Amino acid sequence: MQLLKVALENELDLTLAYKKSIKAAELIGLSRSTQTAFATAVSEVCREVIDKTHDGLVTLEIHNEGERHHLAAVITYRQSEGINNLEEGFQYARKLVPIFLYAVSERKGTIQLKMGIPKAVGISKTKILMVSSYFEHLEPSTPYEEVRQRNQQLYLINEQSEQALQQAEYLNQQKNEFLSVASHELKTPLTILRAYTQMALKTDCSPITLSHLKKVDDQASKLQTMITQLLDISKIEDTETEYNLEATSSKQYLLDMRDLIMQLVPAHQLLIHLNDDSTLYIDRLRVEQVIMNIIGNAAKYSPAGTQIVFTTALQANGEVLFSVKDQGIGMSEEELIKIFKKFYRVESIIKQYNGLGIGLFISSKIINNHGGKIWVESIFGHGCTFFFTLPVYKD
Ligand code: ADP
Repeated sequence: MQLLKVALENELDLTLAYKKSIKAAELIGLSRSTQTAFATAVSEVCREVIDKTHDGLVTLEIHNEGERHHLAAVITYRQSEGINNLEEGFQYARKLVPIFLYAVSERKGTIQLKMGIPKAVGISKTKILMVSSYFEHLEPSTPYEEVRQRNQQLYLINEQSEQALQQAEYLNQQKNEFLSVASHELKTPLTILRAYTQMALKTDCSPITLSHLKKVDDQASKLQTMITQLLDISKIEDTETEYNLEATSSKQYLLDMRDLIMQLVPAHQLLIHLNDDSTLYIDRLRVEQVIMNIIGNAAKYSPAGTQIVFTTALQANGEVLFSVKDQGIGMSEEELIKIFKKFYRVESIIKQYNGLGIGLFISSKIINNHGGKIWVESIFGHGCTFFFTLPVYKD
């Protein structure tokens, strides 16, 4: 069982190792002369290690071997050519403790110094815990000790956060894998369902059946969008997402998209002002996805019949600014900064409008990965304007 650790980096650590070895031996109940012999042996070995390596570590432990208990100092260091079994300090330490073990591997040297604990002294789990807790809560007596202790604490915190981060990354990866597999599995039957519904819509059926089939198709289409978003989230979080970048004339690209946009907002008055005709270097499908998401949202979160204005303009800094302005429900200042987060939806609208809170998260990733920015301005109750920029392509 471990009592304490001291890192061996410089001469000051030697004093620390000595003082703590004496104290540990005293708390265990060893005689005064044994305390001194043990601590001197520890500091002799530590001196050699500090002289030659600067990255050693001494750990005080209680070893239980058969019937006997030992107070042990385990000193480890990175094996360097300049250090060997015959060092003067090692020779001296050998004379002070009954057990001196020396072991080297290719990279690491380990020395164990052991002092027997007499049966009469008595050793128990409680006593060992008491000693290790003493060192854990020991107030530093010099500024150096204080810095050391803080460093040790920071090191521990750092180690814990690294472990937590690794765990979180693992869970995130598992979640993405699940989303990817599940949405793939859902996609196939849904595509078949939509294909059959569309075939049925073309047959000679009664107006009532036709209206029912349209509703089935509408809902299946919404479901398809959501499943695509779920599949996307796992792809987009993968750092190796590939973008198929092509030089693209901004005006022609948007004119080609016009019909698609119109279909997306049949119940609104859509105004399109394309004031830019520069060349962009983009993944056309991914940027289309952003535009459709933002315009789709403008229609979803504003009453039918109201205006949606889609504008592009070239800015002085060489970026093209895209904006989509609606006259819908808008959002408060606190919401503005949160809506690009994964799965975030404004609390008050959840019951009224369906969705997953993924579209804007994906859009922001796509725009950022193209070297652009995305943001929103809004006055609660008076609509939103979404903006995003894309850099102009330079040959
Ligand atoms: P979804 O629309 O599926 O919930 P998004 O990621 O596209 O997911 O949007 C996130 C949230 O941002 C929405 O739930 C909504 O609260 C808010 N939002 C997005 N666009 C608008 C808009 N044009 N007007 C008002 N709120 C919006």
